Amino acid sequence: MVLSNGRRSSLLRSPSHHFDAVPHDVTEDTIVALASGRPPSAIAIVRISGTIAWSVVAALLHSPLPQPRRLSLRKLRTPDGSFLLDTAMVVLFDAPSTATGEPLAELHLHGGPAVVADVLDAIVARPGVRLANPGEFTRRAFDNGRLDLAQVEGLADLIAAETSSQRAQALALTGGALSQLAETWRTQIIAILAEAEAGLDFAEDESDVADRVVEASAAKLTVVATGLDALLIDAGRAARIRDGLTIVVTGAPNVGKSSLVNALSMRPAAIVTPVAGTTRDVIEVPISLDGVAAVIIDTAGLRETEDPIEREGIARARARAASADLVLHVVDTDTAGHVDGAVWTIRNKSDLDDDRRTMPDARHVSALTGLGMATLRAALTEWAHTIIRPGEPALIANERHRAAFADAAAAVHEAAATPDLVLRAESLRRAAQALGRIAGRVDVDDILDVIFSQFCIGK
Ligand code: GDP
Repeated sequence: MVLSNGRRSSLLRSPSHHFDAVPHDVTEDTIVALASGRPPSAIAIVRISGTIAWSVVAALLHSPLPQPRRLSLRKLRTPDGSFLLDTAMVVLFDAPSTATGEPLAELHLHGGPAVVADVLDAIVARPGVRLANPGEFTRRAFDNGRLDLAQVEGLADLIAAETSSQRAQALALTGGALSQLAETWRTQIIAILAEAEAGLDFAEDESDVADRVVEASAAKLTVVATGLDALLIDAGRAARIRDGLTIVVTGAPNVGKSSLVNALSMRPAAIVTPVAGTTRDVIEVPISLDGVAAVIIDTAGLRETEDPIEREGIARARARAASADLVLHVVDTDTAGHVDGAVWTIRNKSDLDDDRRTMPDARHVSALTGLGMATLRAALTEWAHTIIRPGEPALIANERHRAAFADAAAAVHEAAATPDLVLRAESLRRAAQALGRIAGRVDVDDILDVIFSQFCIGK
């Protein structure tokens, strides 16, 4: 795309550069990016954030700026007024109550590639304006106290959410539910810490008072420790909501594993061929079981082989199967389908089997004709919902959050176990600090770049 001034459009350059290519303290720049999906699209939203965001818009309008927070139709022209760029809806937001905490503007353009490219080029030609790095709008929201770290992570999850349960979980996180939970526990711990510290002052002259303080705070600590332990028990379920249940499909070569994976996922992800041993690697297919995320793993045909590549595939398959939530073991002859704990034996190719043809069920299917597949899918959906319980919120899904709660729980257990008030106070300080990491109050500088680099440009 070449513009009137002969420069190539900067819009469609690869967004692959990493966030920390530019240090995040360059906040005097005003940043701009396409915030909606890649053109062509019906509408394209360009977002501008920073001190001169409004004057950047004013330079394109050649007409009065709209009232803040009121979507207004305006003609956009090149700053010298010579070219009409687009007719667009324009909205301004005044700081500090904006998404980034800075003055903010949005241009709702026609979603053509040239429209977006030319408008972006006209904007970045202004001094003090540059294209945003991935996650930079959200980084400014964090730096300006509009979002805490757990909310930022919730936002990343929300954008990535593919199932309703993931969406609900991410929305609770970005709404601040986990930060509030961590803060509630932290406040209780700090109150007990204050008692322990007060007890230290008594300790020298009034040892009986000190003993009573030690006992009373130990009882409170046991309550806190039990509460934190209960949250951690549910963390496994929360992680499965976020990352999906794993279902591994195993069985001898050619029994129809790949066909079964394709029939369950309803898309041709795995290669199906009549030659034994063609699935050499582990293929992972995400599916939604009525709003619950699962990943189906099609394994290499489990058989003895001399081929080193195939052997590697088989070793990986065995490792995945060992840690799966459910194994679908596919057979094609003799054995009847049955359930044995987390291993369901699925009798495939039932279409070849006269007496089965009239009585397909969840364990007797034909991946080829679809016989019994709806019943198998329904059985999997029921199984997934029993584990996930989609209606019940589960907040500690992210490993960073789980680790922080686990550190806090361990420190509270230590505090409860020691009668020494100095040691107890020290453990409680560590517990409070671990919980402070959830919202990003303390100790998080080293992980910020990792978290923000998950975002796309324009977020
Ligand atoms: P894998 O090696 O276990 O992954 O097996 P594939 O899915 O590659 O299937 C091996 C062969 O069996 C292919 O020719 C499939 O078309 C065939 N096949 C798979 N499922 C069925 C089925 O339900 N009925 C019949 N008749 N053939 C099937």
